[in-house]
Amino acid sequence: AVEVHGVHKWFGGRRVLDGVSLTVAPGTVTVILGRSGSGKSTLLRVLNHLEKPEAGHVSIGGEPIGVRRQGNRLRELRESAILAQRSRIGFVFQNFNLFPHLTLLDNVAAAPVATGRLSRQQAQTLARELLTRVGLGDRTGAYPRQLSGGQQQRVAIARALALRPGVILFDEPTSALDPELVGEVLSVIRDLATGGTTLVIVTHEIGFAREVADEIVFLHEGRIVEQGPPARVLDRPEHPRTREFLSRVL
Ligand code: ATP
Ligand code: MG
Repeated sequence: AVEVHGVHKWFGGRRVLDGVSLTVAPGTVTVILGRSGSGKSTLLRVLNHLEKPEAGHVSIGGEPIGVRRQGNRLRELRESAILAQRSRIGFVFQNFNLFPHLTLLDNVAAAPVATGRLSRQQAQTLARELLTRVGLGDRTGAYPRQLSGGQQQRVAIARALALRPGVILFDEPTSALDPELVGEVLSVIRDLATGGTTLVIVTHEIGFAREVADEIVFLHEGRIVEQGPPARVLDRPEHPRTREFLSRVL
């Protein structure tokens, strides 16, 4: 499970996460909703320790993230240990972030080789399988610039899968795409969801959220103000902020 306990995050004098606690059960899909600036990206970044919380902590599969216990105190991990943890958490960004000078095959194969988990040949075999899984098995030698945004995002998902992560975090994976390309990316994410991968997804695609989420979390000013299955949160929202948000996006 992904467990978030009482996380507070400040930027300068500004409180961005204000006591967030959340549990994501293994094999489930949690969708985070909330308006711009509510802290959604910051929460995802705290999950893999790209942001260090001022208070509270995160654990994944029982392992504290970014810190280790020493007696009854928590100490920051060494950078190398943080990087090792981060490599077990998939992260898919809005803007794909592929390596422009590498082929699709090498984009996907790079991390398992760099982390010493697979030989180059094993990594390429895996990369071929994963690219096939996202519908790009016939484009393995292409470069990112030769692809549409939707195709690039599918490569980014394959790349995240190459490290066999216990959880994959998605930060608005379709918001940079032209509308006609959104569906192909959502369909890949849907396959992961039904295949039992643990997913945490920030998205404004409410219809998609309704379909794939086990749990919807609504963030407002750094707090979870409402949480529950889609049928409850989307159809019978109780908090005024959730109602207001949904009335604008639905
Ligand atoms: P959006 O829907 O626009 O992506 P969000 O919910 O993801 O918004 P965050 O990116 O988490 O919001 O930002 C929450 C608040 O924290 C915003 O006010 C933002 O300006 C601030 N913030 C985020 N990152 C930093 C940073 N590195 N330094 C200072 N302030 C930051
Ligand atoms: Mg964001």
